[in-house]
Amino acid sequence: MKCPYCSYEESKVTNKRESPGGIRRRRECLKCRKRFTTYEKIEKKDLYVVKKDGRREKFDREKLESGVDRAFEKRPIPKEKIDKMINEIEEQLRKKGREVKSSFIGGITMRKIKKIDHVAFIRFASVYRDFQDIKDFKEGLNDLQ
Ligand SMILES: [Zn+2]
Repeated sequence: MKCPYCSYEESKVTNKRESPGGIRRRRECLKCRKRFTTYEKIEKKDLYVVKKDGRREKFDREKLESGVDRAFEKRPIPKEKIDKMINEIEEQLRKKGREVKSSFIGGITMRKIKKIDHVAFIRFASVYRDFQDIKDFKEGLNDLQ
């Protein structure tokens, strides 16, 4: 990391702070001793969701979260557990590639919810099943078996 003042190549990190979007480092130049901050963004490739009618839209984690939260409403399940599940879902989707079918997301999500809470599962399933292609949906389920 080059010093913005004297362009010297070496610096030491005096402070490091992580945030969801990246890592912030306070650095001190080993030559001129001036301090500067660097910000390292965590690279997340865009992930697209292909809907049943063929339209593509950017994967929206908040949308997934709100759907899942609704299913778990008033259920005695800790929020951390649900968050962890959503993290796992997102990870799995990103492993699939740059594009996933919306029905695939539904399939994965349902399987995960089923393992945690049956009531939430039925709630999520009843909303979801109505408007999804059954074949794609099963594909999503099978992928985790
Ligand atoms: Zn310097």
